[in-house]
Amino acid sequence: MPFVNDSLQEKYSRQVLFAGIGPEGQQRLLASRAAIVGCGAIGAAAANLLVRAGAGYIRIIDRDFVEPSNLQRQTLFDESDARDVLPKAVAAERKLRSINSSVTVEGVVADLSPRNADTLLGGVDVLLDGTDNFETRFLINDLAVKSSCPWIYAAGVASYGLTMTVRPGATACLACLLESGGVNQGLEETCDTIGVLGPIVNLIASLQAAEALKLLSGRPEALHGRLLSCDVWTGRMQSIGVMRNPQCRACARRDFTYLDEEAQPRITLCGRDSVQIHERARALDLAVLEARLKPLVDDVRQNDFLLRFRISPYEMTVFADGRAILKGTKDPAVARSLYARYVGA
Ligand SMILES: [Zn+2]
Repeated sequence: MPFVNDSLQEKYSRQVLFAGIGPEGQQRLLASRAAIVGCGAIGAAAANLLVRAGAGYIRIIDRDFVEPSNLQRQTLFDESDARDVLPKAVAAERKLRSINSSVTVEGVVADLSPRNADTLLGGVDVLLDGTDNFETRFLINDLAVKSSCPWIYAAGVASYGLTMTVRPGATACLACLLESGGVNQGLEETCDTIGVLGPIVNLIASLQAAEALKLLSGRPEALHGRLLSCDVWTGRMQSIGVMRNPQCRACARRDFTYLDEEAQPRITLCGRDSVQIHERARALDLAVLEARLKPLVDDVRQNDFLLRFRISPYEMTVFADGRAILKGTKDPAVARSLYARYVGA
């Protein structure tokens, strides 16, 4: 199969030489589409690898902005992104376009929810998990199983991480793994409570990206088909076979609880000392809000994507889609009250 042009042939020559991909696999890859949910360390590293490999289209969905504490492990971002408080989806899109201009990269600043999951996760060949919480992972799982789209679970905290590829109808799904009782294979701790090393998240992202390459280049028979876990501190690696649960809520009974809009909380914990408020379903005019808030609060800062201000001891960041992240509390009541007072219901 001929390549579109010589420069593409040159660009991907080392990958095409690899027998598992070859010219035909590369051709498929160039026409493939992927979505990555969450652009922290794992999402950023996987996006970097897929864009360099020449996947045709990559959508990156992230709700957060770049902070100095991200830079130790989130390899797509730099100090200027943190200084400019850029949303991760925006910073990632810019960086990835400069890495490989032949790939279509779309950054979406949004919080994945049952309301927007169909749109944000639709029209792609694979979904990659770059999230940091099980609420969102189960939402991805339910949507992927419902729409028969493969997805790749990946998680890492401290020096430990794991990954599993879910092919609806062919393999176990996340609910088979985590809702069937027995050993809990999930990670309950988070990077905000016990920290995380750059090497583990980048290793897990590499395993995840390799699985995505197999799917997108048309080599599903090469998928490892296991739950892989690694610890970069102790050197322990494990590979476990996971059976499908014939009674599974999601892939057997097709009860997609996490797609139920009404069942989802409007205020969620995000990070050690922050909550996200997403009570409002419509967009905000940030310039109007800035003018209104300036006399009332301290340190108002705005860029094209968000507005940040201080109401001591709290710091609130409001996004154009109406969401806000409040730093300095874990209390939903405080968050709801400050949001109503300063942003409006
Ligand atoms: Zn299942």
